[in-house]
Formats: sequence, C-alpha cells, structure tokens
Amino acid sequence: MLSRVLFIAVTLTLAAGTARPQATDSLVDRALANPDFTWHSLAEGGVRLYYQPGTFAERHRIMLLRSAQAALDKGLAFLALAPDDHELRVIYVDDRAQMKALIGSPYTGLAEASSHGVFLVCNPEWRSFDTHEIAHILSLTRWGNPGDTSRWMIEGLPNAVDGWCMTADVHRIASYLVTAGRWPGLSAFTANASALGEVPAAVFAASLLRHLRDTYGAAILEEMWRSGLEATLKARKIDPKLVEAEWLGSLSNPRNPLTEAEWKQMDADGCG
Ligand SMILES: [Zn+2]
Repeated sequence: MLSRVLFIAVTLTLAAGTARPQATDSLVDRALANPDFTWHSLAEGGVRLYYQPGTFAERHRIMLLRSAQAALDKGLAFLALAPDDHELRVIYVDDRAQMKALIGSPYTGLAEASSHGVFLVCNPEWRSFDTHEIAHILSLTRWGNPGDTSRWMIEGLPNAVDGWCMTADVHRIASYLVTAGRWPGLSAFTANASALGEVPAAVFAASLLRHLRDTYGAAILEEMWRSGLEATLKARKIDPKLVEAEWLGSLSNPRNPLTEAEWKQMDADGCG
C-alpha cells in the first residue's frame, strides 16, 4: 500500500554523559519549514490543509478540506471518540517524488501521530486515502500503541474505517479471498497477519473488524486494541469459533463477486 504510520516516540539523546528523553522535530514541522516548498493553508473545523500553489490540490482545496473533515468525523464515529482540541494537519503533495523529498520515503500516505499530521499524495490518478491516514492519528493518539497481540489492527483499523480498497468494499474483497482459499483461520491470522501479504492482511482485518463492530458495538475495538481479540472475546464470554463462523457466513454468496482481474490490480497497486 506504500503508506506508513509513525508511532508516538521520543528519542534518547546523550547530554553531558546522561541519557534523557527529548521530543524529536516532527516530520510535519520540518516539511512545513522546508525551503524548497511553498505552502499555503486553509483551516476550518479542527482541520488545517496545506497545499502548494498551482497544484491539483490547490484547485480542489475546498473539496479536500471538506473530505478531510468528513474523514475525521467518520473516524471519530467509527471508533466512538469525541472530538478534541488538537488541530489535525493534512499536507498534500503532488507525487511520490515530493513525498520522498519531504519525509525520506516515496510513500503515498504517512501518518505522524506525535504531530497530529498526515501527508498524502494527491493527483488525478490517485485516490488519496485521507480517511485511512486520519484513522491512524485517532487510534494512536487516543489509545496509544496497541498491545503485542493487536499489531494486526494498526493497519486493519484504518482500513476498516475507510471500508474500501481501491474501488471495492472490503467485504467483497475478503469474500473473494476466502473463496480463493486465502483465509488462514482466526488464530493464525491474528498471530501473524502480515504473512499473508500487505493487501490481503489489510482487507481481512478491515472486514473482520467491521463485522465485530457491527455485531458487538464500537467499544469492542478499543478493548481489542489494548488486550487482543482472544482476551477480549474471553472476557465477554464469546466463542471465537462462533465469531469466525458468523463473519465467514456473512461473506458467502456476494451479489457482485470480485473478479480475478480486479483482485490482481489491487494486490499490485494497493488500496489507493
Ligand atoms: Zn496505514
């Protein structure tokens, strides 16, 4: 998917022979101070958009601001969170080359939780996943880093909030992958989701998390983030086999099955 998320982190620096924690300069602040870039900004309703003059993003800045606000609202609603006072900063660049110049890697999207900022590639050929990156900011800043057994949720949760990969609903893609024999079973999946590959892992996680939220309510997401799926179901006296069977059952017989050609393109290009 070529999008990444940075955790809340401090680095240790050596000062006068003693190690002490010091906040790093954020990528967002460094990007906005980069002398090779000119930034204009627009803000409303807790979101500040940054874009460069003369770009696609500038021409569509009102639409992009509305989209970011909608993405923030969607994330808050999905995760059952209240708005807070932090201004969300959304930085649009034209392409991966500009992204590399600013953050050091040619990703199409990046969320930096410590600065409440996201970077997004925006051009006519690319679906900027603002919903995904903003969901990273919400989950990491409100709930902290996930427990060891919940690391599959780091990418899974933003994909669940988005609900789409490229032009298909995540349930529709998950259904295709289950039929193709790609589902490894619940415990194998949560133990090592990334073994499936980036897009299958993200799609399965998103579909499963949406099913769990629909079935048991949004509060189960935070519980799982902190304690893991197994411990959460155990505490709620829910049989994991039942959950898995219900979810797989909900995926059977889709009205409009994904085609192999659609899948191949998604697997190669990611969800943007
Ligand atoms: Zn992500």
